Amino acid sequence: MRIIDVHTHPIFFGDGRKETAVNQLVTHGRTLGIERMIALGDVLRYGARPDEKQLVKLNNENGRLQQLHPDYFIGFCYLNPLLGERAVMKEAERCVTKFGFKGIKLEIANNASDPCMRHVMKAARTFNIPVLQHSWSTVNMGPDMKDHSDPDDTAGLARRNPDVNIIMAHLVGIGYRGVLAAKGLPNIFVDTSGAYPEDGLVEYAVEHLGADNVLFGTDLPIRECSVKLGSVLGGRLSATAKHKILFSNTARLLQLY
Ligand SMILES: [Zn+2]
Repeated sequence: MRIIDVHTHPIFFGDGRKETAVNQLVTHGRTLGIERMIALGDVLRYGARPDEKQLVKLNNENGRLQQLHPDYFIGFCYLNPLLGERAVMKEAERCVTKFGFKGIKLEIANNASDPCMRHVMKAARTFNIPVLQHSWSTVNMGPDMKDHSDPDDTAGLARRNPDVNIIMAHLVGIGYRGVLAAKGLPNIFVDTSGAYPEDGLVEYAVEHLGADNVLFGTDLPIRECSVKLGSVLGGRLSATAKHKILFSNTARLLQLY
């Protein structure tokens, strides 16, 4: 089975920047059969709302990973939608032209239902790249968690922007109701990351979204790759479905081959 991991943080709160650590991670991934990793950046190093300078620093570090291992890492451009249209467009353009980044990553600066998201949608359209949105079911969270986009918020974003591909992160975090929120929206792709596997959940996502709309992601180093891999490889799924989830869906979405 060929495998691409669509959700990784090789640099995490500053750790993992040294070349030896990067090389070790590539070896570790290859040992598990993971042939490419999508690097989303060290998203929370400066808190939930990094400024322009901090974003440039984080995206440059992510770009350096790609330069060290161009055949292994693929970067996404980390943005803060609250900085407005000029800053969003400027940093997206810089990341796409300087590094060839293939997507946009959003964390918890704001909620996916906020009006400022239109700037990110403009960037995604302009550069023809998908947007990976942090998502987590917030029904049992307090009101201070409003910037953790609930699957309903991320689904609403996809519904309002049918021409933009949205990766709804964290299948285990969005859970069964998250899958149902994404159902019927062909421009939503759910990644398998977020917490440890829950028996039957990957199968449930495939049943309701189709195997074409589920992507393998680990959220390393927060989660162990081998465990997340087991949730797909050991799932009650056809070999074709596993191949789509582990490899071909992400390869197609990011136009990798
Ligand atoms: Zn993550």
